[in-house]
Amino acid sequence: MTRIHSAIIDGESIDGTGDPVPVVDPATEEVLAEIPDAGDALVDRTVASARAAFERGEWRDMSVAGRQQVLRDCADAVEAAADEIADLECANTGIPYSQVRDRQVGRAANNFRFFADYIGQMTAELYEQDPNYLTYVRREPVGVAALISPWNSPITLGSMKVASAIAFGNSCVLKPAEQAPLALSRLVEVIQSAGLPQGVVNLLNGNGATTGDRLVRHPDIDCVSFTGGTETGRRIMATAGENLKPSIMELGGKSANIIFEDADFEQALDGALIGIFTNNGQQCLAGSRILVQRSIAGRFLDAFVERARAIRVGSPRDAATEVGPLASRRHYEHVMSFVPETDKDGAKLLTGGKRADGFDRGFYFDPTIALVESNEDRLCQDEIFGPFASVMVFDTVEEAYAIANRSRFGLVGYVWSQNIATVMEAQEKISAGTIWCNTPMMRELRAPFGGFRESGVGAEGGQAAEAFYMHQKTVSIPR
Ligand code: NAD
Repeated sequence: MTRIHSAIIDGESIDGTGDPVPVVDPATEEVLAEIPDAGDALVDRTVASARAAFERGEWRDMSVAGRQQVLRDCADAVEAAADEIADLECANTGIPYSQVRDRQVGRAANNFRFFADYIGQMTAELYEQDPNYLTYVRREPVGVAALISPWNSPITLGSMKVASAIAFGNSCVLKPAEQAPLALSRLVEVIQSAGLPQGVVNLLNGNGATTGDRLVRHPDIDCVSFTGGTETGRRIMATAGENLKPSIMELGGKSANIIFEDADFEQALDGALIGIFTNNGQQCLAGSRILVQRSIAGRFLDAFVERARAIRVGSPRDAATEVGPLASRRHYEHVMSFVPETDKDGAKLLTGGKRADGFDRGFYFDPTIALVESNEDRLCQDEIFGPFASVMVFDTVEEAYAIANRSRFGLVGYVWSQNIATVMEAQEKISAGTIWCNTPMMRELRAPFGGFRESGVGAEGGQAAEAFYMHQKTVSIPR
């Protein structure tokens, strides 16, 4: 059984004594590890370690060049351990190895490199309007950040939080999702060896309602960055708000993927497949509501269904696998609960809607496509978070935007058209934090990534992170 600890405090791995939380391999249903819930006492020790490291100032006051070097060393350390981290992530989440090893671990390393570069480029504001005064804005790290991450893409999302918090001189406590803590816990161990002063990055493993809640409430936490479900985000933001702690919320999505009749058909088809079936469909930014214009709808649906049926569902460890198992039994049951909806209110199941053939163990769900008549349907309004596309047909451009925007979420809008005027109109009309025009999933780390409405509050990314993780202090000096 994999051995992972309840906490990493001051660089030391610690076993807790709380109730064991089982960590399950979604492909085999075997228990990979049992990690005692960190609980109140370890939360308090961990936050104390982060606070002490911040107050010592070794990291906070290090030169920018010094911090850049350590962040680059963290990136190298992640790359050196890439195989091991990828094995753990793949076993624990069911994400295909091919997607984890190259893209996601590479992205985790790149998150540290990106912020190393970013802090070397930061500028400052200086005001000289009054000849008798010099006024400028000093930026200072806020202190200790609580970072709470989800199970769907642990190393990519968790590493982004750690890199962005510490780059600006803060200390942090990371709490990975209890279902999928293995790779991220190892990543934290690995970066300890890269020259980070002790206590700058700490880790807590355990349940959200116990360990996570205690962490958010802790008086020595200065800010909270959360990625996860909308209902959890609502709770955490309320708790942070009670204590007047700033928080970033990266929450759920039900993003519209609009395919106009003048799109490059093959490009749009590939984009639609990538948008919904990557990462086993468990992505906040998935293009899960596909809106296709009527004149091309028949051709699109035939091709989309044919390609979805050809997707290789299999063990995440197999290099040829394109879609692996869903992350947990609970999540499998959640995704399955939408299948009866495909036979109601004019909806129609076009493929999938069942356990994937050939598997009697593991949480394998067949790539699924449903044609849906009404955008009010649960299939179009709720986040299914699996390899499950809901397709609607529209007639006019105005109708497409109206459907796209009639959602409580607003994370991403995908648009496919070869007409520049249509693309320009779409990026204005679609109400979402990110708009991808004729491309799926382009992530520019300098640009903000955040959601409108119930998809979130605040954003991650270069300047957005700088604004969140640094206090601004205005200084005036007579001259
Ligand atoms: P979740 O909300 O169940 O859990 C996320 C994290 O919150 C876990 O670490 C959990 O332990 C912790 N938690 C739960 N209750 C808590 C509490 N009361 N106090 C403190 N911590 C608590 O989310 P999930 O199911 O792990 O993740 C899937 C969701 O995340 C989906 O809705 C997805 O869309 C969303 N997501 C959003 C983004 C984004 O950038 N917008 C990215 C990835 C995933």
